[in-house]
Amino acid sequence: MAEVFTGNFTQQDPIPDEGIAAAVAVMRGGRLHRYNAAPGETSEVARLEAEFATYVGARYCLAVASGGYALATALRAVGVQPGDRVLSNAFTLAPVPGAIAAVGAAPEFVGVTEALTIDLDDLEARLAATPARVLLLSHMRGHVCDMDRLMALCAAAGVTVIEDCAHTMGARWRGVPSGRHGAVGCYSTQTYKHMNSGEGGLLVTDDAGIAARAVLLSGSYMFHDRHGAAPGPEVFEPLLGQVPNVSGRLDNLRAAILRPQIALLDDRCAGWTARYRRVEAGLRGVPGLKIIDRPADEAFVGSSFQFLLPDWPPAAVAGVVARCKARGVELKWFGAERPAGFTSRYDHWEYAAPRPMPATDRVLAGLLDMRLPLTFSLPDCDLIARIVADEVRAEGARSGVGQAAAE
Ligand SMILES: *Cc1c(COP(=O)(O)O)cnc(C)c1O
Repeated sequence: MAEVFTGNFTQQDPIPDEGIAAAVAVMRGGRLHRYNAAPGETSEVARLEAEFATYVGARYCLAVASGGYALATALRAVGVQPGDRVLSNAFTLAPVPGAIAAVGAAPEFVGVTEALTIDLDDLEARLAATPARVLLLSHMRGHVCDMDRLMALCAAAGVTVIEDCAHTMGARWRGVPSGRHGAVGCYSTQTYKHMNSGEGGLLVTDDAGIAARAVLLSGSYMFHDRHGAAPGPEVFEPLLGQVPNVSGRLDNLRAAILRPQIALLDDRCAGWTARYRRVEAGLRGVPGLKIIDRPADEAFVGSSFQFLLPDWPPAAVAGVVARCKARGVELKWFGAERPAGFTSRYDHWEYAAPRPMPATDRVLAGLLDMRLPLTFSLPDCDLIARIVADEVRAEGARSGVGQAAAE
């Protein structure tokens, strides 16, 4: 009998007891709105902002309703106007181009390399060829590009960088936390990310003007003095009446759930990466399967795992997905013709009228992905790798592809 995996790829850890107790206390108090604090009380949201700012070493932090909202707010706060073009990754998830569209701007996609990071040569070409002066950089699936080269290219072109850190909360490039290279870092606390409040987002920056505009955009009315990590009133004064209220606040209930998770984050990130390394070790040397190189400068968080079946025909990739599924291993295929679940491809975002990107298409056509929740044990990861290795070998033999080692 072939081994079957019975774990659940979407089952996250429970909320820590401390977070549950804090959430119950918020509900008993009835003051769920972030600005509804008792005299002398600092709200859970304001505390979360101060604590997360400290965690990433940022001057300012704003908690908001979702990661996608944080992205759109960052775009508005750095001055993106309707009709502008905004550079962004072709390989990302739908809320990223969606945030650009939300502010009336248009995405200008940049390709992906086999390392699953933004193609910096393509970025250089797009910087020269387009008037876009903002890059919304998505560290998709936790893969961090050479941030030194990226920042140098953008600085030379006068381009402002906003980082989408939905998959890199807790990660670093050469010791600098993800989200701290660009002008703004945006994070999601949606259930499948590295801290879990169901929905939620965080935005960090060292720029007082960006921070104040983001606070006002998020729907602060005249309560900006009740924020946990915002600039002083003198920064807000000239902006009052100039910045629309695009309501998207976080509430105290979600903040209460999140605060105790900050202290757990580094351990949890290490746990994800240990799982990633076990799957990686189990898949090395499988003919036709390419492991993604992880540079030494990248301290990544392995909360999901990717591999490539380079140049496999679509039917053979689909065969691997089906075979693995039959044995309990859920792979997502970024090259599929139709969007499925969370997974879609840049050319599915028809509203953005993307240009054809053959090099990116080639990478995505062979790109498979799976989540690695902390509820999986290390032996679970070994089993998953055995199943994937078996089925890649079997499908490769059946369809006559991938017989030479890809590595
Ligand atoms: C989840 C996600 C977002 C958006 O976060 P939400 O909190 O779900 O709005 C943005 N970018 C990427 C890459 C994501 O995975």
